[in-house]
Amino acid sequence: MIDLHCHSTASDGALSPEALWALALARGVRLLALTDHDSMAGYHALVDSGATGLRLLAGVELSCQWAGHNIHIVGLGLDAQHPQLLQGLRQQAEAREARARGIGERLARAGIDGAYQGARRIAGEAMIGRPHFAQFLCESGAVRHAPEAFDRYLGAGKPGDIKVHWPELATAIEWIRAAGGYAVLAHPLHYRLTNARLGRLLGSFVEAGGQAMEVISGNQNTDQTRHMARLCRQHHLLASVGSDFHGPTTPWRNLGMRAWLPDDCQPIWEVLPQ
Ligand code: AMP
Ligand code: MN
Ligand code: MN
Ligand code: MN
Repeated sequence: MIDLHCHSTASDGALSPEALWALALARGVRLLALTDHDSMAGYHALVDSGATGLRLLAGVELSCQWAGHNIHIVGLGLDAQHPQLLQGLRQQAEAREARARGIGERLARAGIDGAYQGARRIAGEAMIGRPHFAQFLCESGAVRHAPEAFDRYLGAGKPGDIKVHWPELATAIEWIRAAGGYAVLAHPLHYRLTNARLGRLLGSFVEAGGQAMEVISGNQNTDQTRHMARLCRQHHLLASVGSDFHGPTTPWRNLGMRAWLPDDCQPIWEVLPQ
């Protein structure tokens, strides 16, 4: 069992890094990358706590943009102290804060007051993100549940969908590569791109130095896995596997994945530094 993509309370996950660690151990995970959105605070907390019993990789999930789409790049096996990466993470923290204020202003124009302050309070120490706004919208009674918050206010094309603050795809890849990490295109099926556009995204990704893609992300059907494996081979990428676990309330997407890939894919864990 492995997991190369999951979240803690350092971003929009429900479990503390320590609770996530305990769950990973309980589920038999042997190789784990904690990949919080634009933050490595959870990784540092685990290292400081001296957690043992499984192999921990330094990871992160960077938000960026490509051709008007909000794209996520996972970095794995990073030098967590590399100055360029640290500078990039500071820039991402500022971008998230500025974006959050922008989301608050746009929601105010849509008749919802106090959203920034509410989301900020909910986020606390965590890297602020749209799920914190979704929780605020639920708590204030503006929507019934988080999916409705994304459908009406936060999802692609809605008022709270602000991309201007994110760096370009190539910049995010550069930060990861500078820190000696592997750049992995996260959940390629989530962007809802046509096949032609997804092909162009992968072309740009490879050109900018991207090295791997998630062939299996969370729960996928076999057709989707075959499709992703074909793209992975076509673009000569390494293959990664991750649950994108955010918490126990989504039981169909639990922590830990079988360390399995279609035969024609080279697993990234075979080349990651020991
Ligand atoms: P952000 O990183 O602030 O752009 O927020 C994106 C995060 O919101 C994703 O990583 C998911 O955790 C969550 N998310 C995205 N779409 C939805 C949705 N439709 N319903 C619930 N959560 C979502
Ligand atoms: Mn998330
Ligand atoms: Mn993501
Ligand atoms: Mn994720």
